[in-house]
Amino acid sequence: MKTSMKLSKSGCLTIPKDMRVRLGWKTGMSLDISGTTDGALIIRKHTEICRFCSSPQNLVYYRDLCMCRTCAETMKGALS
Ligand SMILES: [Zn+2]
Repeated sequence: MKTSMKLSKSGCLTIPKDMRVRLGWKTGMSLDISGTTDGALIIRKHTEICRFCSSPQNLVYYRDLCMCRTCAETMKGALS
């Protein structure tokens, strides 16, 4: 799944429809974007991760803060 495209003046890219369909990407969905040290760009469906350790597992929420249970327990221990 590789294609070439040009970046617009405003930095926009249009992901080809057939690629979006294959990936299951729908209009309006959230995506996570990250750059690599070798100049690549990685775009994935958004997943919640712990704000402190980036783990995607065993997440809990406090107000708008997302964290894993391990970090929550560490924070709880630091406060007691
Ligand atoms: Zn964590």
